[in-house]
Order: sequence, then C-alpha cells, then structure tokens
Amino acid sequence: MSFQNPVFIPGPTNMPEAIRKACDMPTIDHRSPLFGQILRPARSGVQQVIKSTDAEVFIFPSTGTGGWETALTNTLSAGDTVLAARNGMFSHRWIDMCERHGLNVEIVETPWGHGIPADRYADILAADKTHQIKAVLATHNETATGVTSDIAAIRRAMDAARHPAMLFVDGVSSIGSMDFRFDAWGVDVAVTGSQKGFMLPAGLAIVGFSPKAMEARSTATLPRTFFDVTDMGKGYAANAYPYTPAVGLLNGLALATETLLSEGLDNVFARHHRIATGVRAAVGAWGLKLCAATPNVYSDTVSAIMTPEGFNATDVVTLAAEKYGVAFGTGLGAVAGKLFRIGHLGSMTDVMALSGIATAEMCMVDLGMDITLGSGVAAAQDYYRGNGSTKSMMDAA
Ligand SMILES: *Cc1c(COP(=O)(O)O)cnc(C)c1O
Repeated sequence: MSFQNPVFIPGPTNMPEAIRKACDMPTIDHRSPLFGQILRPARSGVQQVIKSTDAEVFIFPSTGTGGWETALTNTLSAGDTVLAARNGMFSHRWIDMCERHGLNVEIVETPWGHGIPADRYADILAADKTHQIKAVLATHNETATGVTSDIAAIRRAMDAARHPAMLFVDGVSSIGSMDFRFDAWGVDVAVTGSQKGFMLPAGLAIVGFSPKAMEARSTATLPRTFFDVTDMGKGYAANAYPYTPAVGLLNGLALATETLLSEGLDNVFARHHRIATGVRAAVGAWGLKLCAATPNVYSDTVSAIMTPEGFNATDVVTLAAEKYGVAFGTGLGAVAGKLFRIGHLGSMTDVMALSGIATAEMCMVDLGMDITLGSGVAAAQDYYRGNGSTKSMMDAA
C-alpha cells in the first residue's frame, strides 16, 4: 500500500506534516490549566478564520454532520418550519436530518449543478408574513456538484423581506479555503468539520453561534445532550469540556488556524482560486463540462467533472485508485456514474494539482475516452505559469 500520493477527494484533505504532528500528543490531564492553552487559541483561531468578532465557537468530538445537529437542536423546536434548497447530496442530507427531527422543511428543489436561488428564497420569505420560517438553511459549497452559492445574496433576500429567521450555513467544504464572512453576511450558525479546510483528520464538529442563535436556546425544545452548547459553554468557562475532549485534534486545530492566518486568508483564498482555475482550464482542454452550470457558481474547492455519454465516471475513480494509487471523488446520489470529482481544498499547491490532473487524464485515456494525453496538463501549466504561484502556503508552513 502506498501513502505517497496526495488525495484529490474533497475531504478528508491532505495534511501538512507539522499539523499532523501537532495532533500527536502525549496524554495530558484535560482538567488541568494546560488544556486551556490548547482550547483558547483553537477557538479564537476559528473565530478569526470565519471572520467574526462575537461568534461563540464550539468544538465537539464529532464531524460536520454533528455540527448540523448542533445547529438545529440548540435553536429549534419540533414543528418549526425551516427553508432549504436541495441542489446536491449534502443539502439533501441536511434536509433529511431536519425531517428526522420533526421540523417542517419548505424545500426549494433546485437542479443539481445550480446554486441556491436567492430570488426564490426572497419570494418565499416575503410571502411568510406571519414569520413561520424560523431558520433559513444554506449549503455554501455543495461538495457533491462543485457549486458555490452566494450567501450574501441570501442575507440580502432575508433583509429585503425584513424576515427575522436565523441563517444557518453549512461551510464544511468552504471554511478555511474560500471566503466566509460570518459577521458581514449575518450568519447565525456556521458549521464545519476538521477534515476539510482545516487539513486535519476527521473528528471535530466546529460551529459558530451568533448572539441571536445563542438566544434561541431559551425557546428551543428539541432534545439535546451531547451537542448542548450550553453545557459546552459552561465547560469552556472553566477551560474544560462537559466530557473528554479530543485534545490532540484541538492542538492540531490551533496550529491549523495559525497556519491559515499566517499565510493570510486572502492568500489562502487566492491560492484556491488559482488552483481551481487551472483545473477548470484542464477540463476545458479535455472538451468536458463541469456539473456546475455557470461560471458564477464554480467552486474553488472541488470540481465535479461530467464524463461523456457511454462512460461510467466511477470507472475513472476506480482505475485511478487501482492503477495509480490516487484518490478522486465519485458522483453521489443523482449524479452517481455521471461525474467524478477532483477535490482541491486544504493543503494543495499548483504542482500537486498538476499531478491530479495528469492522473485523471491518464485514466480517461486508458478508458478509451477521446482525450489527448497531456492536453489538460498543458492547459493548467499554461495558466499556473502566468498567474503567480502557491508559494504562500510553503512560506506559512
Ligand atoms: C463533508 C461535508 C459534510 C459532512 O461532513 P462530515 O464531516 O462527513 O460529517 C457536510 N456538508 C458538506 C458541504 C460537506 O462537504
């Protein structure tokens, strides 16, 4: 088995050596003051990465999915209505979780490959005169389709309707890799996990709560125990947890946020944009199309690439793993077999991306697709040569 190749799945992402080592710690007493020295920078680092001054950051031993559950159960009651668009597998799963919690979900069915239709949200919110909708859900980056939605536009739609609903944003595959503005967008709960933009192993659910979301606890009656942010907050007040924290991962998170901030968030976002643009240049050179319908929704963290009629996109992923030892993402749900995904978030450079592009190209030629070997690599090289570099990441690491 080889672990030498970078992975190109949209999470878990590649881990920088220093961040991986930071997770490898001797046992400490998590009720000692030493723990506070790990917890405090991890929480304040996350707050800075999501661009907030007053979000309460809570970190659970869990994954992004546990972050969704934290958002819902601490703020809502069974029978409450929430508004959500379904435009891919992750938004679908979030809706499914809402329904299992007895929430009434007003679903805006959206073609996969399209972003959240803010204008539809605007109409629905304006029509909701009695304010039945308690929360508006938005998946910032739909990892299944490589589609980024405009969260600022959703906030504008809410404000235009003078609607008091809370805004919950799944930022699992955007936070730490793409611009995310908790305060400026008026986000009430932001959700992510450790294994994507933060370049850590899976194991942490990371959430930010606005003062308004914190207030909603007093009326929210959905059952919550493990994910109760009130219990967690009491723990934090004593530099502790209500149970046993994942100390190594928290230490890794403290370093991950420090690394992102020292690269500079703007540099991090520019690096992801540049890498993604090179991948898209390759896709164009192959004569293929993205699942993302229009350039304004192209994701800078994952590209979902449609394979031609008559080919099973999953074969590209299988062959890459078996023959070249490289991992790509398969199509999920409604797009299974129709696309494969190149994840390019987290710890990624131009040169790493080139190896992924080269591998995908070899696999597609192996499978008999009408693609010229080297065409995608050359298109990406051409773009990378002329558009700065990803050296910011190496300097920060
Ligand atoms: C990965 C992902 C999730 C699920 O996160 P887990 O950590 O696997 O629970 C949710 N939403 C989006 C957009 C994701 O990319």
